[in-house]
Amino acid sequence: MGPDLAFALSLADDADALTLGRFRARDLRVETKPDMTPVSEADTAVEQAIRARVAAERPGESVFGEEYGDDGGPVRWIVDPIDATRNYVRGIPVFATLIALERVGELALGVVTAPALRKRWWAERGGGAFADGDPIHVSGVRRIEDAVFYAAAFASAGLSYISVSKGGKFEDAKQPEVGWAAYPYTGPSGYECMPTVYSDTRGPFGRNVSLSAAIRRAIRERGIETPVVASGGIGTFALAESILRNGEADIVAAARQSLADPDWFRKIRLGRGEEVRRCEFTNYCEALDQKHKEVTCKLWDRVGLDELGVALDQTRRRRLVAPDWP
Ligand code: SF4
Repeated sequence: MGPDLAFALSLADDADALTLGRFRARDLRVETKPDMTPVSEADTAVEQAIRARVAAERPGESVFGEEYGDDGGPVRWIVDPIDATRNYVRGIPVFATLIALERVGELALGVVTAPALRKRWWAERGGGAFADGDPIHVSGVRRIEDAVFYAAAFASAGLSYISVSKGGKFEDAKQPEVGWAAYPYTGPSGYECMPTVYSDTRGPFGRNVSLSAAIRRAIRERGIETPVVASGGIGTFALAESILRNGEADIVAAARQSLADPDWFRKIRLGRGEEVRRCEFTNYCEALDQKHKEVTCKLWDRVGLDELGVALDQTRRRRLVAPDWP
């Protein structure tokens, strides 16, 4: 590890101490910036601390920070003190500090540190990329162009609709325990297929949308009007509507959110959107499926089990249908 990366990681340590120190603090000060996004005292404290260390320990280098702007110069530390400040101020652990070093227009390294998730990723030009110290690499998943080719062929052949999804692969699955079969959702491709809120700072939301958008664009350019479906981590009407409005898909599929609250369409239609039980994308339901157990949702499976007529699973410990709502 070179001195630049060592310095960047020590900046990340400082940032973690500051962000975690004020995370979920009842007296956290939050203001609204002119662009209507929030900024907390932790955002400014992290950037100030990084600026102070660069000034003291890295003569001739400068900082380009989200909160205090760009000092200019050929060697810049680029800093987002808290990415996802909205999550941070709401006590949601999916946030990170982003640090990069740019030398004469070329990025030399990058660090993403997500202390509330206990995760850190970094990469250095020529030195590889790492997640918590383990080497990582770009997924070997085939290119979207391959899927576009087949989608166009299927659409030309008259398919009613095209739906694109990403699958977990056996090639990168974890070694199973003795007596168990390999399961393709345990490696990086599995995470991409069904990311949870804990997978990384992007979370599970809409990660497949670029795929459906690319396929839709390609088949429209060929004059084919076959509807294209977007799916994967679509858990709000706002996201669904933006996908349709942006022309990224013609149909939106939402499996886990529809399991979490089978009545969410009716609630939205009735103007009771705040009562929708939002999927937490933890894959609890998927784990039950994997173990060949009856699939229920963690949000409601142990609620009101002694209610009259409630349907229970075979173990009698879980609901099989969502609770009623008045
Ligand atoms: S168990 Fe429920 S909340 Fe969790 S991922 Fe499945 S549908 Fe969503």
